[in-house]
Amino acid sequence: MEKDPTVVARLFQEREEENWRFRTFLRMTSCSRAKINAAAEHFAREAAARMDCLQCAACCKQTRPPVDATEIGRLAARLNITSDAFVERYVAENDFGERCIEEIPCPFLDGNRCTVYEDRPDPCRGYPYIGGAITEHMLDILERASTCPIIYEMLEKLKAHLGFDRYAP
Ligand code: SF4
Ligand code: SF4
Repeated sequence: MEKDPTVVARLFQEREEENWRFRTFLRMTSCSRAKINAAAEHFAREAAARMDCLQCAACCKQTRPPVDATEIGRLAARLNITSDAFVERYVAENDFGERCIEEIPCPFLDGNRCTVYEDRPDPCRGYPYIGGAITEHMLDILERASTCPIIYEMLEKLKAHLGFDRYAP
């Protein structure tokens, strides 16, 4: 398993066209959605068990977690400032109009450690969402696979498991 997120990003880029073909393959295959999703979850859990996220932190360096009012209040209390001050200092709107942490890398990252771990936003807690139905969210999966060694490994294992021919035209 490749655990270095910079190598994963490069490999993903090299396989970008192949990954789009795999997305189409998943739509056309006769294998049931339930079987694909169960296999994907199995491979992702296996990869997660082998990965030490403290050696990576790519998600904290490359994504902007959305934050709702509750999460803003929780983080503001932790920093001993008001929610308004927190929004002013740390929050922006993403392309979907959601409020999110503005800076990349996340301003609460110190080295590879989250300094607000117990109060981190809920999207950080779920990342990289390994139990979801991947067949319904392939765009999100491909985006995560470009960053996260766990999801990249899952994707590669799934290709092999389903007999996807990466060299087919
Ligand atoms: S709040 Fe913590 S877990 Fe979430 S992105 Fe920032 S550093 Fe990472
Ligand atoms: S969830 Fe993925 S991207 Fe985030 S630290 Fe763990 S392996 Fe790295």
